[in-house]
Amino acid sequence: MNVLPSNEPTFRQSVDLMFNRAVALMDLPPGLEEKIRVCNATYTVRFGVRLRGKIETFTGYRSVHSEHMEPVKGGIRYAVAVNQDEVEALAALMTYKCALVEAPFGGSKGGLRIDPTQYEEHELELITRRFAYELCKRDLIHPSQNVPAPDMGTGEREMAWIADQYARMNTTDINSRACVTGKPLNAGGIAGRVEATGRGVQYALREFFRHPEDVAAAGLSGGLAGKRVIVQGLGNVGYHAARFLSEEDGALITGIIERDGALYDPKGLDVEAVKDWMMRHGGLADYPDATHTRDGGAVLTEECDILVPAALEGVINLTNAHNVKAKLIIEAANGPITAGADDILRARGTVIIPDLFANAGGVTVSYFEWVKNLSHIRFGRMQRRQEEARHQLVVDELARLDAALGDTWNLDPAFKARYLRGADELELVRSGLDDTMRTAYQSMREIWHGRDDVTDLRTAGFIVAIDRVSKSYKAKGL
Ligand code: GLU
Repeated sequence: MNVLPSNEPTFRQSVDLMFNRAVALMDLPPGLEEKIRVCNATYTVRFGVRLRGKIETFTGYRSVHSEHMEPVKGGIRYAVAVNQDEVEALAALMTYKCALVEAPFGGSKGGLRIDPTQYEEHELELITRRFAYELCKRDLIHPSQNVPAPDMGTGEREMAWIADQYARMNTTDINSRACVTGKPLNAGGIAGRVEATGRGVQYALREFFRHPEDVAAAGLSGGLAGKRVIVQGLGNVGYHAARFLSEEDGALITGIIERDGALYDPKGLDVEAVKDWMMRHGGLADYPDATHTRDGGAVLTEECDILVPAALEGVINLTNAHNVKAKLIIEAANGPITAGADDILRARGTVIIPDLFANAGGVTVSYFEWVKNLSHIRFGRMQRRQEEARHQLVVDELARLDAALGDTWNLDPAFKARYLRGADELELVRSGLDDTMRTAYQSMREIWHGRDDVTDLRTAGFIVAIDRVSKSYKAKGL
């Protein structure tokens, strides 16, 4: 668990400070600022589950930050450190994140105070179903009201239990599958959701590196290839981001930080091999192909080009911000940099690609999954073969040209194969995600470069998001 120094604000206060910095530069109607900032409601539930011969009591939360659009959206976290302040901070971030990437949702978040590693699968199912029951009963899980998703400590398996629990309680709801996202493919999920947040981090970085001016602002040059990247947290988000960046963009993953320390190799780590080791041995220690240090914090402040905090909130705080050497930080986790650390890093010229944008890939693909569930049809099912048939017409024409031109021009068989294939669901999801990340980045950068009083991407992102939320409130007559 991350313990912040006592002179730091809480996570929720930290998010509010960042919000305040942005609204100070905006011209909102009196009172609206406060209405947007506050969390609308937080439901706390304490429920008992009979396990191993006795009743165990669990505490869970579902917080709704803003209902300017419904359903509200956000993951459910399973961790011992879950508390009301954290859930409310995360719910607020969901509001701004959804607004920034134009996912038509309000912000929400849930959490269960539990160490999931201490329970058998069937016990976790009982606990999850009971928690889901409590939330469903109050419409805090509902296709048109509140749609949870995975977060730290939860995944497809928990989402499938939640979906089934809702369906059992709402037997005639034809849209029941849309009550939760991040489900397995065979239970109404969508291709590409598991890796979506990591994929979004990759697309965010690719878009950043498309703008030489922005790259120069971070004191870097060139593209992603060869960049030294340190990743903190090799969970779902960190693992996928690290894998895609090293395998597809030629970045070097020089450091990986986990609970039991860190691995460091200036030549670049094999992400797949490290993950495999971690899964088999429960940690990074004794990994044979790199130096392991128990002091993970030391690697966080090691020399690198890009730092990817992809685990907990508050890992970069007043105690270590001064020592961070990365020129570019991309917040793959929610809230990894405290407001105080943010001030320090900004003053030093570190460019931060903020969480509300950087990790929005998850909720973006959740949005696609929700739409898929409501439309009851897989993306691409109607168009794919028709698209292929039309491409076949072009290929046939090119083949005719090829025959007519003899040896002066030949149709490349590789082009033919690639061009003929119609897009399946995964390709469409990637295309939609890529477009979303590019568009959202451009909306932030327009403000970052277009206004003299905005000097960082986080403030720019908050301004875009708050402006959109305020427009929704105005449209509602508030
Ligand atoms: N828990 C993820 C997040 O923090 C995903 C939320 C969702 O898909 O609704 O963004």
